[in-house]
Formats: sequence, structure tokens, C-alpha cells
Amino acid sequence: MLKFECKNCNKWHPLPFHVSSVEVRCPDCSQTILGADIYVTSGPLAITKEALQKNVHKYKRLVQNAEKEVEELKKRGAARGLDTTQDQGGAFAMHLRELLCGARDDTRYRVAEEMTLKYFFSGLNHVAKVVDISLTGVCLQTQDASSPKTGATIPLRFVDAGAEAVISGEVAWSGKAGLIGVRFTRLTKEQEDFIRELILKKCALETVSGAG
Ligand SMILES: [Zn+2]
Repeated sequence: MLKFECKNCNKWHPLPFHVSSVEVRCPDCSQTILGADIYVTSGPLAITKEALQKNVHKYKRLVQNAEKEVEELKKRGAARGLDTTQDQGGAFAMHLRELLCGARDDTRYRVAEEMTLKYFFSGLNHVAKVVDISLTGVCLQTQDASSPKTGATIPLRFVDAGAEAVISGEVAWSGKAGLIGVRFTRLTKEQEDFIRELILKKCALETVSGAG
């Protein structure tokens, strides 16, 4: 999760998005804060996004070491008949991984409320379930055996509360069981706002972990 501190009202506020701009506005006092320190947080850990991005390789190594350590502990624990999966080390490694995820500028958000869209492919309209979404693309669960393959260009039709947006996308990868990743090829300002709104409404504002 991202948050920043408003020096004016002395409160921490969550930021629902990866803000690319250098200024953020306090939702309480409407104060515009230039160059605010934006923190990436996960559980008890918090670090400024800037510092995190500068040292991503270091933190990646740290995560790998922590995970290795946890594996070792698990093995040793299992040998003695103990379950150490919920131990502190495991939680630490998980939070670290989550932090790294927050350093990405194309953070994906898991859809909390059922969301579908239509896409046009090989002369037909198809319905797909949105699995996660970011400002740069969507992961879709397609229903058809003949889902579009990597490299295909497909128009995506999002509908939300009567408003709709048709956004051009390119299939970046296609995986098992009809899962595909589609990158938006370009977004107008209006389309970007539409996607932001959609994420705010439909997604649990915690990020999706893992690479991709
Ligand atoms: Zn404030």
C-alpha cells in the first residue's frame, strides 16, 4: 500500500494509486503537497518509494535470502514435526516481497467485485472476466478454447455504470486455461481516467504480488 503524510493536518493518508506526478493532494485539507515522501508499506514495514526504487536490486536479494532462510526453517521444523509456516520470518519475507511489488509503476490491482468486459476477436464478440487490472493493462480469464494468442491486437470494451470505453490492447502473453495478459496500446487522458475510476470502484486496493 502507498501512503503519505500531510504535514498540514499531521495525518497519514493512503494513496490508492501509483502516483506518477510529484504532487499529491491531501484528501482532508486539500493542501497540495509538492515532492511529498510517498511510502510503500506492507504490514509493519514502510519505506519511501524513492529509496526502494533506488535499491531494488538490494531488496530483491534480501527477499531471496529471507525466503531461503524460511525454507530452511520449514525443513528443519518439519523434521522435528513442527509447523513453522506461520513464523515471523515467513511474514517478513512476504511483506518484503509486497514492498517490492509496490515499487513498480504499473501495479496491478485484483478485482474484488465481479467485472467482465467484451473483446472483439476473429469476427466475434467474446466476454471475458477481468482478473486484475492496472493503468497499463489487464489480465483476463477468457472462456473460449480459441482465446487470442500473443501478439494479437484486440479492442476491449469496458462498461461501467452506463459509461463505456473501447480501448485497444495487444495480447502480451497467453497462459494456461484461457488466461491472457493484454497491454493497452495507448490510452487517451479520458480512457486513463476511466480506468482509474474503474480500479477505485472495483478493486481491493491491495496490490497483486508476484512478477509479471
Ligand atoms: Zn492534510
